[in-house]
Amino acid sequence: MVTSGEWSGRDAVTAVKGWALWSRPLPWIVATLSGMAVAVALTIASTLLIAVSLGQVGLFALLAGLAVAQTEVTRRIERQRRMLSHGPHITVTSVWLLPAGLLVPPQLVAALGVVIYVYLALRSWNGTRPGEAHRVAANATTMILSGFGAGLAAYLTGEQGVTTIAAAALGYFLVNTALTGLGLYLADPKSATLASCLGTMDDNVLEAAILCVGGLLTMVLTDEPLLSVLVILPLYVLQRSVLIKRLEELATTDQKTQLLNATTWQDGAQREISRAEREGGSFGALMIDLDHFKSINDTYGHLAGDDVLKAVAAVVKQETRAHDLVGRFGGEEFVALLPSTSKEDAITTAERIRRRISELVIATHTNEGEAVEIVQRTASIGVASFPLDGSSIEEVMASADAAVYAAKHGGRNRVVGAVSSVDSVDSVPSVDSVAALAAVA
Ligand code: GH3
Ligand code: MG
Ligand code: MG
Repeated sequence: MVTSGEWSGRDAVTAVKGWALWSRPLPWIVATLSGMAVAVALTIASTLLIAVSLGQVGLFALLAGLAVAQTEVTRRIERQRRMLSHGPHITVTSVWLLPAGLLVPPQLVAALGVVIYVYLALRSWNGTRPGEAHRVAANATTMILSGFGAGLAAYLTGEQGVTTIAAAALGYFLVNTALTGLGLYLADPKSATLASCLGTMDDNVLEAAILCVGGLLTMVLTDEPLLSVLVILPLYVLQRSVLIKRLEELATTDQKTQLLNATTWQDGAQREISRAEREGGSFGALMIDLDHFKSINDTYGHLAGDDVLKAVAAVVKQETRAHDLVGRFGGEEFVALLPSTSKEDAITTAERIRRRISELVIATHTNEGEAVEIVQRTASIGVASFPLDGSSIEEVMASADAAVYAAKHGGRNRVVGAVSSVDSVDSVPSVDSVAALAAVA
């Protein structure tokens, strides 16, 4: 008996040691476990101090039932969203936990959080992949503590009605934003930015919209509880619209660099040509080709190569204006269209980009996990402009391409302006014509 007890104890220790949780950064683990400890302590204290009425148990059961029904209705949408999402994944669970924070004592808020997240993990997130359990627990803790925040804000307001609901929603939002932001920061402090921790404007508007529905639900639950089923359809539409937006993003963006993909860039460029033609305007176009990029892959591996692509993409984005069209054309080729820009100004921008790329210090690792710093990478940039170097987007880009070719031949790490047709067509042969000559030979 004793032996078997010892074995099971040892097994348990081995199992706990194997948790994926321990692979996360230490500060993240400490913060997450502290959050859980606070949630558990508050739940125990509340259980000891606050009595639960039958009405509150009824409200809890209704909220749990609605949450389960909602999860069932949106199972496919939620699963797709989770598969396609990167960065913080917003769920609609606030819609249930905000009313709970206002209407039931903390122990029932915690119970609701547990019911919702266990159900989501089992049904919607497809049984949650191994190593994901601690993420689910961390998310549930954040939402439960946000629900407590809502309750506290309402308590401090001390009033009834609209003011209380507004204060509770604000309390919920603040706790949620602070905890989620802290978690995201501690998970990867090096690449954390304000936007990556606090979410985009769209993420925050979505969270606010969910809390608005949660506020309305609170009023319905107090006056006409049975009408609360009406919330299911609007939530379904809300979740579906978020999925559609994400699919749109995926269809238009290059996933490695977050720049426009080739098709979307070309559509935008086509619109820019029409506009420039209509208004008699001009634009500059840059074609950027990294020098000896293949050697990075060969030396450090593809993952390191990808990090270089991301770093270069970030530089091109930083050195251009918000309305410039920046895209990734192919492997290590980037394009930028600068509306209402002369060729000279486009060359100045290209020179800035070239210099920034040559100064990049990219911390990455090899396929074997060894940390490396990649420095002194360079790019050859061809610059062409409309209408000087072509009357269609194909012609302008062929001129820019020919200029890149000239830059490579000139020794790389340089910016070359296309020789416009009015000067001399032959001085910089286009890549196509070189290929054609090679084929003839
Ligand atoms: P050059 O200076 O003449 O431009 O030489 P290069 O090595 O940059 O050019 P080349 O066209 O010979 O090689 C481009 C390489 O880019 C080959 C391909 O393996 C690599 N590549 C293409 N797409 C990706 C990608 O998404 N990630 C990584 N890591 N490498 C890529
Ligand atoms: Mg190339
Ligand atoms: Mg190249």
